[in-house]
Amino acid sequence: MNDRKILVTRSSMPPLEEYVEEIAPIWESHWLTNMGAEHRQLESDLKRYLGVENVALFVNGHSALECVLEAMGLRGKVITTPYSFASTTHAIVRKGLTPVFADIKPDDYTLDPERIESLVDEETCAILPVHVYGNLCDVEAIQDIADRHGLKVIYDAAHAFGVRRDGVSAAAYGDASMFSFHATKVFNTIEGGAVCFRDPRLKDRLDQWKNFGITGEETVEFVGGNAKMNEFCAAMGICNLRHLDEEIAKRRLVAERYRSRLEGRAGIKLCLPQPGVAQNYAYFPVVFEDSFGATRDEVFDSLGRRGVFARKYFFPLISDYDCYKDRFDSSETPVAREIASRVLTLPMFADLDMSDVDMICSTILAQGRS
Ligand SMILES: *Cc1c(COP(=O)(O)O)cnc(C)c1O
Repeated sequence: MNDRKILVTRSSMPPLEEYVEEIAPIWESHWLTNMGAEHRQLESDLKRYLGVENVALFVNGHSALECVLEAMGLRGKVITTPYSFASTTHAIVRKGLTPVFADIKPDDYTLDPERIESLVDEETCAILPVHVYGNLCDVEAIQDIADRHGLKVIYDAAHAFGVRRDGVSAAAYGDASMFSFHATKVFNTIEGGAVCFRDPRLKDRLDQWKNFGITGEETVEFVGGNAKMNEFCAAMGICNLRHLDEEIAKRRLVAERYRSRLEGRAGIKLCLPQPGVAQNYAYFPVVFEDSFGATRDEVFDSLGRRGVFARKYFFPLISDYDCYKDRFDSSETPVAREIASRVLTLPMFADLDMSDVDMICSTILAQGRS
């Protein structure tokens, strides 16, 4: 046994010299935060990369999501998925809104449009779907439901940075999309996030909200928070964005290697590529069905013994968290519950060695029946 560990993710970093060059001007200006030159530069770089008109940067994705829910003035119920990270539902609840959980699709694990409409009532104000693992939601069907009922659509696009369908980026759908630039995401600013949005009038509101509701030198018009991205994080983003396409191309090779070793094996279910979608290969989820012959937890443990740290992501379901389980019943979203009990996301990052991918796959397959 050696004690080398393979973690589920490894943050992308630019060459050190490139970062140093990017932050050198900060030593001249002494401008460390509050929407300085790096902040403005990253905002415009992102507009270009994502092909959108409106972007506001934040200290993290979660604050961005809370902020956009508040800035849109939403009240009442929000239909969302329990198959996500804590942030999605927490943002709804922390903004005084009521989450209503709809089930997910068994193929790509995004919100199932057919489960949404029966949950809409006169108190419903919005739909908050998640592009899980970078799989694009059924954006047309969701928009159609929203239009018929006068609902806003806010995407949790934390997993979907860089994803495009027929050349259109994930940022273009719905009324707004939240991206996370956390260290573990495909594109990172160490900690950070952004909202892309359709209505340009939201821009001032979002920027003021992240700076205490200050609207002028001597005016504070509303009770905002503090959620500004600082100059060092913005500089990290500027550098990482230059290398992003290269990073995604490397992740693609890792994903293809996993696929070539695991696809078609009895009891192993992988996400299928979506038609017309250029993926970002953010995660590599594997679902273990009964016919595999070993449970998800057994596979997780066997990988752990080899120093491989896969993740049970997403498990538990949000509706089963201690803070929510008395209010919700996860048996109402059986597909989500089933996937959560069977899924494992495998190590996935640009510099993962192919020999490690092979070792991970052999370890998994050795647990199976065939
Ligand atoms: C990472 C993540 C978030 C939160 O983003 P932070 O930048 O960490 O605040 C929200 N939703 C999902 C699905 C995520 O994966």
